[in-house]
Amino acid sequence: MCGIVAYVGSKEAYPIIIEGLKRLEYRGYDSAGVSILNGTMNTFKCKGKVTDLEQVIVKEKIKGTAGMGHTRWATHGVPNNINAHPHLSGDGNLAIVHNGIIENYGTLRTALEKLGHSFVSDTDTEVLIHLIEEIRNTNDLSLEEATRRALQKVVGAYAIVVLDANDPDKIVGAKKSSPLVFGLGDGEYFLASDASPIVKYTDKVIYLEDEEVITIHRNGDYEIRTIENELTDPEVQQIDLNIEELEKGGYEHYMLKEIYQQPQTIAESMRGRLSADEGWAKLGGMEQHLTRFKNAKRIILTACGTSWHAAMIAEYLFEEFARIPTEVEYASEFRYRNPIITPDDVIIALSQSGETADTLAAVKLAKSKGAFIYGIVNNVGSTIPRTTDSGSYIHAGPEIGVASTKAFTSQLTVLTLMAIILGHLKGKISEGYYRQLLSELESVPSLVAKILAKADQIKYIAGEIRNTSNALYLGRGYNFPVALEGALKLKEISYIHAEGYPAAEMKHGPIALIDMYMPVVVIATNKSAHEKIVSNIQEVKARKGIVVAIVTEGDTRIKEMADFTIEIPYIEEPLSPLLSVIPLQLLSYYIAVMRGCNVDQPRNLAKSVTVE
Ligand code: GLU
Repeated sequence: MCGIVAYVGSKEAYPIIIEGLKRLEYRGYDSAGVSILNGTMNTFKCKGKVTDLEQVIVKEKIKGTAGMGHTRWATHGVPNNINAHPHLSGDGNLAIVHNGIIENYGTLRTALEKLGHSFVSDTDTEVLIHLIEEIRNTNDLSLEEATRRALQKVVGAYAIVVLDANDPDKIVGAKKSSPLVFGLGDGEYFLASDASPIVKYTDKVIYLEDEEVITIHRNGDYEIRTIENELTDPEVQQIDLNIEELEKGGYEHYMLKEIYQQPQTIAESMRGRLSADEGWAKLGGMEQHLTRFKNAKRIILTACGTSWHAAMIAEYLFEEFARIPTEVEYASEFRYRNPIITPDDVIIALSQSGETADTLAAVKLAKSKGAFIYGIVNNVGSTIPRTTDSGSYIHAGPEIGVASTKAFTSQLTVLTLMAIILGHLKGKISEGYYRQLLSELESVPSLVAKILAKADQIKYIAGEIRNTSNALYLGRGYNFPVALEGALKLKEISYIHAEGYPAAEMKHGPIALIDMYMPVVVIATNKSAHEKIVSNIQEVKARKGIVVAIVTEGDTRIKEMADFTIEIPYIEEPLSPLLSVIPLQLLSYYIAVMRGCNVDQPRNLAKSVTVE
């Protein structure tokens, strides 16, 4: 994780870098730092957020038109001032910022120590800048050449930028498994972890590929070589990202804005992809590969975190509509457990950022076994869509709140559409049901808007249960993964311990936890097994648990039993997660705010998990 931004051009670098770091802070925020070149290497860094960094800056020392910054999510060494990036070479002339992990840093460090290097931090990153220094000094090489040769010795993942105090007209970057984007402005040039710090200045970018090293000169000349020293000539791409999309737009938090954007973002993820009136649905990425999907012996969905919950719902959808055996795998487990993958399998990889390290590795593994890989990603131009055989963007727009909300519902929209398309293609759903599903899917944005209008009621319930230390989330069928997602939302932003469970499983353990202090959120919208879920609620009430029930409008029976109910509009059950998750997002948001938590940047977390 971590965010990197670097600049060389005609303007003062510091304000551009600080603003860029604030945009990248979602990637990590346990410490921050900058190095500005102006004859010497002026480095400031500290534990904490970018606003803390601004307090320790000495204004006179940060004048200069080239520099770089970093916001960290620690992997090696606790978050403190010393471990914060940038890290310096032994002579203090070179500086590095790094996103990723140098796995063989221990061996390299020992070897460098034998050569007389001494280290001040506990990080893996500091070893790399000493290695570059060593190679450079021993062989009298340019910065880029020394960097290239040093990276040949590195095992692990990196996006780096390296500066030399003696050459303020040049910045050098490189990447492997962590993202790095080169922005080409008008007389100014950028390197960053994503395009968000760049879009204000230019829409022209080059996404660096793995094991590429870029050298950017102040006059705009640039050169990209592989670490094996082959010159590459990548195409300059135009990005379509609006600066307003990166602002809070009047909301108190990004998360709240993103929750409220869902009527639009769900509509965006369907735009041009279906018409219930005309009775068609299509996904561009599937069109060329329909035979592959039709003949798939198995679908394997792989993902992490919230995306994994979307994948779990898709398992129900694919099996129900298309009757294709479907499995769901945590990418981190899948990649290391020698799974059986055949060329008849279709692998669907889900990732909001498109950079999730484990999901990317799972994609590469499945690809090596000959499977067909389909990516479902939000971040356009990111690594996963460039690695898969085909895919669909979810078009939710930038998601900045660390807890995923709109990306989840957009992933689910695309997955639902895929399942409907496949069901129709394979003749497993009738024409009438196909049209009904399309029409109900089209109605989701307006139904979500109706639920959002109940925010005050949800806020009231949040106030009633905000002081709890634990919570249980129960659901059945399509709404079991929603229970998992509701529990995850609560724990990640409010630090309340919460567990999601299939409602019937409660009896096999968690029921022991239920007492008068335990809120139990039950997603009870299901038409199927409704009686069963009513019984589950009775079981909770019999043990004095506090029931918060999400029910379908008009369900008076559960209303009588539950302590609190939130009604949501009726929709066909397979589509119900798109609605039932909305009150759970709002509930955790309000609870977290009431507990004084930083909802957009919860402790220990970062938005895109680009390390294993
Ligand atoms: N491994 C480096 C560190 O712990 C970089 C982590 C990151 O990507 O933020 O400092």
